[in-house]
Amino acid sequence: MEKSKEKDTRSCLERLLPAGKQRYKEKLLDIQGNDPYKIPAKSWSTDPENFPDIESVGIFSYFVLNVSYYTSEQFRAYRSLAAYKTFVAGWVRDIKTYKPGGCENIVVTAKVLHSQKLNEASLTPWLIASADGSKIESAHCTCTAGVGETCSHVGALAFALESFTQARERTTCTGVSNCWKVPQGIKGVLPTPTYNIDFTSAKSKKTRLQQFIADDTAVRTIDHTQKAVKQTTPPTAEELSGLFQKLQTNCEKQNLKAPSCVKVSPEFCKMYRCLIPASLCTLRDSKCVGMALGELQEHCRSLSDPLLSISAEETAVPERATRDQAKSAVWFAGRVGRKTASKLYSACATNPTKPAVSLIQSICYPKQKMFKTEATEWGCQKEEKALTVYMQTT
Ligand SMILES: [Zn+2]
Repeated sequence: MEKSKEKDTRSCLERLLPAGKQRYKEKLLDIQGNDPYKIPAKSWSTDPENFPDIESVGIFSYFVLNVSYYTSEQFRAYRSLAAYKTFVAGWVRDIKTYKPGGCENIVVTAKVLHSQKLNEASLTPWLIASADGSKIESAHCTCTAGVGETCSHVGALAFALESFTQARERTTCTGVSNCWKVPQGIKGVLPTPTYNIDFTSAKSKKTRLQQFIADDTAVRTIDHTQKAVKQTTPPTAEELSGLFQKLQTNCEKQNLKAPSCVKVSPEFCKMYRCLIPASLCTLRDSKCVGMALGELQEHCRSLSDPLLSISAEETAVPERATRDQAKSAVWFAGRVGRKTASKLYSACATNPTKPAVSLIQSICYPKQKMFKTEATEWGCQKEEKALTVYMQTT
């Protein structure tokens, strides 16, 4: 682990241009030349008591008023001030500090997730501040904009420290447990049902966090996933019925499909019941397996299933539902067990005591045994065009 860290640091430094390297070394002079990426893990402190008291004025002073080493102009990195969004979203974690002995400054680092690529390795910004937190001296980050010293990851780290400062200022000697209300960093993002996802804006989260910090009675760490659940009274049966009636009337007026809640409501379910006859395969009876032909014919004659006597009115529904033919699942389901026109000749010609297996298969499993040749495929492709031409010429 230690080795890979060293390797990463070297490659990070190697990527710096000469001016960047010089500036990097100059920044390190504020912490006695220690490179934050090379400080051993055991030397860092994770105790929030040691975090510098960064305040919002210090953040503004650094990101806006500070002068860039490279351009000799003020940073004016107003966009970095929006980095609080990264912080309130929980993308900052593992904040730790290191203060060299006798040094007036302290270095703070953290892991910050990419806001748009959460599965990628986190970034490691660091910032050097005066030990009392009154001034941010310099910063750096492993992201591509990190050399510029004002990237959003440095900003997010600064805002995390500012929230700790606020929380600490509110702490009394009897309220130590109130101290750490700052949201804990999220390590990764797992799939979760939509109703558990907090879509609150970053601005609202920030306001909520500040209110939470200001509330001396709150002791738990704020949980952004806990939303205030609005208490509502369930509708009465009459209210629901009125709602379904309105929906149904409006759908009819505007020629729209009725929503599912209407279709399953006691008032309207009969209107929407499925009028497509069930497939003939529902007539299958395992007792008939192995029956002699005569016995089987007798059994078939004894059936008085409504499936076998479909009225003219009832045929209209499946006809409408199967106009897409081979593109329609209902079309295939309806053909199961039926001798369609193209099969009629073969059905009449085959020996009923020993029918052709391929014929039985094509009747009982029409989808699996769908007849297809190059010619029929060509016909299917051109069918629509042919219909249009036919309609234009007649
Ligand atoms: Zn960065």
